[in-house]
Amino acid sequence: MKNSKELTAKYNADTVEDFIEVESTSQPGFKWTLVKRKELWECDCPGFKFNRNCKHVYNQFREENINAVCKICGSHAIDWAHMVSRAQDPKHKYEITNIRPLCRKHHDLEENNPEVRKLRQELGI
Ligand SMILES: [Zn+2]
Ligand SMILES: [Zn+2]
Repeated sequence: MKNSKELTAKYNADTVEDFIEVESTSQPGFKWTLVKRKELWECDCPGFKFNRNCKHVYNQFREENINAVCKICGSHAIDWAHMVSRAQDPKHKYEITNIRPLCRKHHDLEENNPEVRKLRQELGI
């Protein structure tokens, strides 16, 4: 069981702003550790080491930004839209820089109309 003392030994304590543990879905009972440094989360799972992104960091980011507003209309966002869609390139699926908050209405709109997504990609919003 990891504790904060072990963590301070493993990571440079001065630079760690926060940490959490998440249980592995593929290995029940096993936990990954997420540490926050300079506003950004890092994870010790193999996926993160390989891609510099993983679903643990992705989920944490979404949770922290639960009050984000829609990029298009400014209403409370409940959906996260991918800039590069999973269909276009699945490896960007968990990339935080690849997601934008959208309300359900505008997310649906672009799912049904690829032109809307294209426009958003061009504008970088
Ligand atoms: Zn991870
Ligand atoms: Zn909207």
